[in-house]
Amino acid sequence: MSIEQIREWLNPVESVLKLEEGKKKNEPKTLPPVMKRNVVSIVGIKRTAGRFLPVSHEGYSNETHIDKVELLGQERAEFIARKLKGMERRAHMSVFRGLIEGTLEEEWKSAFEKLFGRACTIPSGLCVTCWNCSLFGALEAGKGGTFARIRYFDTWSVESTEQCVASLQSEEGMGIGNTVSEDLRGERDSASYHLYEYVKAGTHFPFITIIESPTALDIAGYIQAVRMADLHGYGKYNANHGKFETTFLAVAPGMPRFSVLTLLEEANGDGSAIEKGFKNGKFQYDAPEGAVIKGHESIVSLGDELKGEFEQYIQMIR
Ligand SMILES: [Zn+2]
Repeated sequence: MSIEQIREWLNPVESVLKLEEGKKKNEPKTLPPVMKRNVVSIVGIKRTAGRFLPVSHEGYSNETHIDKVELLGQERAEFIARKLKGMERRAHMSVFRGLIEGTLEEEWKSAFEKLFGRACTIPSGLCVTCWNCSLFGALEAGKGGTFARIRYFDTWSVESTEQCVASLQSEEGMGIGNTVSEDLRGERDSASYHLYEYVKAGTHFPFITIIESPTALDIAGYIQAVRMADLHGYGKYNANHGKFETTFLAVAPGMPRFSVLTLLEEANGDGSAIEKGFKNGKFQYDAPEGAVIKGHESIVSLGDELKGEFEQYIQMIR
């Protein structure tokens, strides 16, 4: 599968990411908002490749509990959209900086200053002009903002927490982490370690991501960002935990006529059932079945074309 084969349902990069010159001399360039009304849906399933700690609330004492929710007849681990987006945005920026340095042979900070008027940093120094800000959105007091073009959805484990979470009640018990004290002479007390629940390796989380006003650059960049985020890790303590493997199932022009809940119902506890459903054309979109790209390898090969798409983008904004 090549980007060329899907270019007709995408927007040319200059219609979405072209910068406008500042109105007065020395005024920074801006990125005008776009709303093309077309969307691309990307669906896949993530499998934990190690311990994963989806935590979005405060812990108490020295214990960390993962997010859980009762859903479709069983308790499941919850992986909220905000956490998915946060990690993938950072991974996307890291891919972006690597491409800038590879293409322009210049350190990303100074290259960003020349191209966008400042070095864009997440979360508090967003430039509101670059490709990452256009895709993930940015708001900055006094500088206006740009709405995100990417939409994430909450997701839940296919498996029940009984199967997939190591907790006080489970056979494995909670994980134990050490808080390293500078002073090694002292007695180790309860404050020097903490206990944490975790989602075990091999747990499945289906996901749906939608990109509005998509370009080929967005699709290829998103695929590469997900692959990088899988290695960087999601969730709490992600230096060591939260690694994933993603299987992409479908990329389609148009909105999906199903939700993450539909996918969980289809799985009914079995992580491989969703993939089978996609192969059999069970899930429909607001697009003809023939237009849907299926299969992990085909979708990953779209990501492989990122460099060429990125070079066109840089040509345009230089
Ligand atoms: Zn930016």
